[in-house]
Amino acid sequence: MKYDHIMVRFGELSTKGKNKKEFIRVLARNIKNALSEYPSLEYIVQLDHIYIKLNDVDPDEIIEVLQSISGIHALSLVLKIDEDIDNICEESLKLIKQEKGQTFKVHAKRANKKYPIISDQINRLVAGKILKNTDLKVDVHNPDILLSIEIRNDGCYIFTKTYKGAGGYPLGVGGRIMHMLSGGIDSPVAAYLLMKRGLLVECIHFASPPYTNIGVIEKLKDLLGKLNVYQESIRLNIVPFTKIQEKIYEVSDESYAITIMRRMMFRLASELAKRRNCPAISSGESVGQVASQTIESMNVINDVTNMPILRPLVTYDKLDIIEIARKIDTFDISIRPFEDCCTIFAPKKPKTKPSLEKSIEFENKFDYQTLINEALDNIEVVYIKKEA
Ligand code: ATP
Ligand code: MG
Repeated sequence: MKYDHIMVRFGELSTKGKNKKEFIRVLARNIKNALSEYPSLEYIVQLDHIYIKLNDVDPDEIIEVLQSISGIHALSLVLKIDEDIDNICEESLKLIKQEKGQTFKVHAKRANKKYPIISDQINRLVAGKILKNTDLKVDVHNPDILLSIEIRNDGCYIFTKTYKGAGGYPLGVGGRIMHMLSGGIDSPVAAYLLMKRGLLVECIHFASPPYTNIGVIEKLKDLLGKLNVYQESIRLNIVPFTKIQEKIYEVSDESYAITIMRRMMFRLASELAKRRNCPAISSGESVGQVASQTIESMNVINDVTNMPILRPLVTYDKLDIIEIARKIDTFDISIRPFEDCCTIFAPKKPKTKPSLEKSIEFENKFDYQTLINEALDNIEVVYIKKEA
């Protein structure tokens, strides 16, 4: 007996009406794109599920791909059968005989309210058939095998195997965001969380050659290669940052260098975000990790832009961030030694409570706007795409 469909479930959507339709449309598109190597698959898109008809494709491969797609709550391998009650009993018995375990529970659901037999009665009839023909016992609280039966308008689906999905929202429904990507552990994890939330992520990186070496770019490409699992194509904008950085160290007190550097980064990121139609920017910052990540610092840094700044990791512990980095396989790349513009220029005693007035005072000592425009005009763009 072979499963013939995969049932894709969205879970409880908070969105309704038009938004829900858009959600499903985008999710269906993302699924089809991710599975484009399997042209024989067929898709049945409905308001509460998407069914994928396997047509003899190996379901194990498909499930692995589907588990990385955000917006999917759960997946089940299902068998579509005729909804005649004797047939349901017969097929359910065959299916459960394939499974390992001593106890079972039947869970019938009647989405098609015109079906003449109510769920409770279906449960009883099917369980009776199984009890009579096997050694299995019923356990309604903690069964080894949960046999689900769903009667829908287009037929009946039975299944015992459910796999957890990635959750979140389909990529793209949340709009676009300009994400600040360093070569560290945090920002790739933050990018992943944003993608999971349905945001299409574009990246900006500030490079300071010759202080930072070319290896950083290779590292970023490798990191984004891992994130391609969640977003097939990622645009990476590399901003030449050396001149601005040198100027900052020329004009400001060492203790203010990081604050001003981050203000420049946020100016560049918001300007590029506007040019690229991204209504928000994001970073891998979390509160309290380093001097520039105190609430007071963030306040002074945010002052340069009125765009929303999303910081998905703001309350995360480092250990929790590392756990996610391992899960998405970016950790080993992130810990490769490299020189970051922040580490090279890091002052010995950065201000944890910088003043806005002082920051502005230092900044006014040079024509940063011209340097910002020049940097934006010299951005180098790389697209990181999923390998075919
Ligand atoms: P990460 O592990 O992401 O590097 P971190 O804990 O080392 O973070 P910082 O180096 O202070 O913290 O950087 C905080 C955030 O600022 C980063 O998560 C990233 O979003 C952004 N950022 C820092 N350096 C760069 C850079 N060179 N290019 C782009 N974004 C950067
Ligand atoms: Mg860093």
